[in-house]
Amino acid sequence: MAHLTVDIGGRPGIDCQGFCSYCYFKKLKKEENPEPFGCKYCLPFSKGCEYCTDGVRERYEDFKPLKEVADDVLANLQMIGGSLDKITISGGGDPSCYPEFKDLMEILGSMEAPLHIGYTSGKGFDDPDLADFMIECGLSEISFTIFASDPKLRAEYMGDKNPEASLAVLKRLCEKIDVYAAAVIIPGINDGEVLEETCRWLDEAGAKGFIIMRFANRTDQGLILGNAPVMDDVFLLHTVREFAEIVEGLNSRYNMKISGTPMYDPSIGSPFVIINEPDLLDKLPRVTGKASVISGSIAAHPIQKILDACGNDTWVVPAKKEIACLLTSDDLRKLDKSRLEKTVIIPGRSFIFEAEAVEILSEDGIERTVVRGPDMLTADAETSMGMTKNEVLEMEMEGFADLIRLINMYGK
Ligand code: SF4
Repeated sequence: MAHLTVDIGGRPGIDCQGFCSYCYFKKLKKEENPEPFGCKYCLPFSKGCEYCTDGVRERYEDFKPLKEVADDVLANLQMIGGSLDKITISGGGDPSCYPEFKDLMEILGSMEAPLHIGYTSGKGFDDPDLADFMIECGLSEISFTIFASDPKLRAEYMGDKNPEASLAVLKRLCEKIDVYAAAVIIPGINDGEVLEETCRWLDEAGAKGFIIMRFANRTDQGLILGNAPVMDDVFLLHTVREFAEIVEGLNSRYNMKISGTPMYDPSIGSPFVIINEPDLLDKLPRVTGKASVISGSIAAHPIQKILDACGNDTWVVPAKKEIACLLTSDDLRKLDKSRLEKTVIIPGRSFIFEAEAVEILSEDGIERTVVRGPDMLTADAETSMGMTKNEVLEMEMEGFADLIRLINMYGK
């Protein structure tokens, strides 16, 4: 059984009918040769690769022509061989705005495997009947940004020219297939009663899940592309704790699963649900080495608790940025080096070049070893949306076992 991903290309903000007011790719400077961040994909001796230079900025070309997409599909099918169990449409642009969307759906539908649309704003859906058409083509799952069930707000903040039609498509899809709705939540705009009404609307329509994302407007919240603030007039933002409380309250009032990012998935208890499972913590390897684990300010405390339960006696060091995967070299420069052990473990997916990290972290004259940690120690809300608690626990067991092995292998 195989999974085929169909990349239709396209650029955020351009190939989705203009920027949504909260889009994290808005206000990006047009640079000929942007400075790479460095990341886990870079070669050890050369800072910069496609991913941490262009991919992270979604610097892609226009939508690919249908013929090119179809040729890619054929080539990939030949490599896969055997039967297909899922086809996912993805791209930097929005599938609902793809100029030959209906032809694309018909071609992919003819392969008779369930179709998924990985992400759409729905801004390109201008006719409610498109929902039936997509279902006839085999669409079985879609992730759809609603922002709010109030069409006026969709029009104003997403630039949706046909908000009633796109909402009607969403409603019909909710009745028949697995719909995961999503919304970036901006205080004073689509939170409070508007969010409550949006949840009611989605729940009544039959959505399977709803992921709400706290709006980030500052670099320390994860805007690393030099384009903060994305919205000039939004100053008051939800704290992580406030946001987690909103998610928990909503999830308890509706049938559909509601989870939030950066925190949290109340029906599973993640991220870091393993904290409450002493039997599983006992099964993890014991920490015998000494290393400083660097993380984001949200994850540092739970990681500390889990490692300590496994015998650790060194500090997990929080950076000033909230999300570990979005740490950059600048965050390392701001750390108090006197607190660091001689071995430092950086987050696996952080945008940090290891050789540069060695230089920065040895600035105080103590030569330090830098090791890249595991990719994931837990599941964020987007990952856990389709998972069971046991699957998340398995992922956390694997992630922490790998981390502890690294501490023991490289720790002094
Ligand atoms: S649809 Fe998505 S990618 Fe396009 S502007 Fe809106 S948030 Fe950005």
